[in-house]
Amino acid sequence: QKILELRNIKKVYNKTSIGLEEINLSFSGGEFVAVIGPSGAGKSTLLRCINRLIQPTSGEVIFIDREVQNASKKELRFIRSQIGMIFQHYNLIDRSSVLENVLLGRLGHMNPIKGLFSLYSNEDKENAIKLLRKIGLDEQIYKRADELSGGQKQRVGICRALIQQPKLMLADEPIASLDPKTSIDVMDALYNNCQDFGITCITNLHQVEVAKKYATRIIGVKKGKVVFDGKPNMLTEDI
Ligand code: ADP
Ligand code: ADP
Repeated sequence: QKILELRNIKKVYNKTSIGLEEINLSFSGGEFVAVIGPSGAGKSTLLRCINRLIQPTSGEVIFIDREVQNASKKELRFIRSQIGMIFQHYNLIDRSSVLENVLLGRLGHMNPIKGLFSLYSNEDKENAIKLLRKIGLDEQIYKRADELSGGQKQRVGICRALIQQPKLMLADEPIASLDPKTSIDVMDALYNNCQDFGITCITNLHQVEVAKKYATRIIGVKKGKVVFDGKPNMLTEDI
């Protein structure tokens, strides 16, 4: 079933810089999609238009059956609560514990009035611990985030997204700051968890080999346009 659709998405930053032109893409439940292409191609812009971290200049994003571009603040909150996001630089709160960082993923599900003042439920805490154990961070649960290695930090980032119980996962260059061995650990964790929980994943990757190893579908982007969209084994030339 269709989970996401981008219709005629265009993003113009300024006269000299076009982010995206005329992007039309459709995504089904359970896909693991890698977006590849050279630096400056528009990969990050594409990903960030989906949950409106970037507002497209024109076009429509339909997430499940909701229009993202014109969503009210309240609707946007709801949409974002169903979209997990992972960042290149992890975006953890350094001085907080690993457990607290994961629990932050629940904030989007809380009443905005009570918000920060309401306590996380025991169920939330149990779920956070379960996810951390599953991803191999048993021993880090009560450590401060800044005591962790890069690979461990990114696995915390994955748990923070998973605890949202998202329908869609956006991973913006999740391994760009990691060495090759750690990159594989993180990609395994991302891939396996998305499969286990039935989450569609769209991830920007620099490394074509990594994209080919994991993705069920590859989208090649160049100068703001889609230049390839298909199965990894169909990818011939370097894009
Ligand atoms: P990628 O993720 O593929 O490296 P980006 O989506 O970051 O590409 O950028 C696509 C294009 O848009 C680039 O030419 C970049 O310089 C430009 N761009 C990105 N963000 C901004 C911004 N905030 N202001 C102006 N231009 C930007
Ligand atoms: P990067 O680490 O890739 O450079 P940014 O610093 O641009 O990322 O962070 C983008 C912003 O989006 C952050 O301030 C973060 O708080 C916010 N953010 C994090 N997760 C989500 C989410 N799921 N939906 C919307 N916004 C988010």
